[in-house]
Amino acid sequence: MSRILAIHRDCGGPATDDDTIYPGDTIPFLTEEEFALTCFTCLTEISDRSELRLTEVNQQ
Ligand SMILES: [Zn+2]
Repeated sequence: MSRILAIHRDCGGPATDDDTIYPGDTIPFLTEEEFALTCFTCLTEISDRSELRLTEVNQQ
């Protein structure tokens, strides 16, 4: 079992709460037409998905 972790490129921290788990490649906020996300680490508003780096992590 793995999940996708969204890393904010600017601050290098996780952009989503660790409780927010997206199994496989189902990432609801990345498929929305009007992309908007507030970074969980630095609280900067992310308006472009290219500001995120997606990392697949194995779940223990
Ligand atoms: Zn950030």
